[in-house]
Amino acid sequence: MTSTPHPTDRPADPSAALFAALDIGGTKIAGALVDGHGTLLHRVQRLTPSQEPGEAVMLTIHQVIGKLAADPRWREVRAVGIGCAGPVDIAHGTVSPVNIPGWRGFPLVARVAADPAVAGRPVVLGGDGVAMAAGEHWRGAARDAGDALCLVVSTGVGAGLVLDGAVRPGPSGNAGHLGHLSVDLNGEPCPCGSRGCVEMLASGTAIARHALRSGWQPAARGGATDAAAVAESARQGDSLALAAYDRAGRALAAGIAATATLLDLRLAVIGGGVAQAGELLLAPLRRHLHTYAALPFLHPIEVRRTGLGSDAGLIGAAALAASH
Ligand SMILES: [Zn+2]
Repeated sequence: MTSTPHPTDRPADPSAALFAALDIGGTKIAGALVDGHGTLLHRVQRLTPSQEPGEAVMLTIHQVIGKLAADPRWREVRAVGIGCAGPVDIAHGTVSPVNIPGWRGFPLVARVAADPAVAGRPVVLGGDGVAMAAGEHWRGAARDAGDALCLVVSTGVGAGLVLDGAVRPGPSGNAGHLGHLSVDLNGEPCPCGSRGCVEMLASGTAIARHALRSGWQPAARGGATDAAAVAESARQGDSLALAAYDRAGRALAAGIAATATLLDLRLAVIGGGVAQAGELLLAPLRRHLHTYAALPFLHPIEVRRTGLGSDAGLIGAAALAASH
């Protein structure tokens, strides 16, 4: 079955239902069984073979589904929800994640539906940012909010919108895709085709790249050079590492301010792996928001950390499945 565009909302009937959820990103592919109250019952995770051919990525997804289907509760699963790194096309059930080059126009909904374990259950697709917004709105930090921008800061940067009390994916499923909003007119070319995108400055990949270019030396963790290693150095006071997080926070602030100005928003929720750096990222983000969100009607924009942590995408994917 294919998914159809719809303004998602909280599941109407939270009792007794069970959903399968997939959260597909450039670094990891997670799967879970989630009940109708948003509780994770069984979680599986694999690394994304993101630089391999598209079929290798699909094989990993079949393996994740196979692990979930081995759980006796799989029989109770009503629908499968997918949150996938963007861009996605929910009208056609295809995905073209910037950070998974082997997937361009990849028919993810049809391929998941064809998995023998899925066996005719509805398959509902959303972007990872939309899924995160659905999760945070259902069970997390945007639960009491009529309007919110929810961001996934990870290998890339995605986001989704809650407006007038419902998640709004837009016709193609990419509404709120703040990661590819340009905040630097003459900035670095982005794999999406534009320049100076938020993602080129604020993703985990960008933080690590910028730190290395500026001369940062990895000190700990066996010489790891990812965003978590930069965060570790920043906590020890390394000025180059701190500057890389400040730059990321500044780019996110500019993107959030632009979105808030456009849509009259007062709440941003920040999740994703890079957000685990906590105040290292959020303190500069809040400080720079004062610069970029200058108009009085924007004050104050509240910035909250995810209420669901690394499970936001999975719980959100279940929310998408439940609202089908
Ligand atoms: Zn871009």
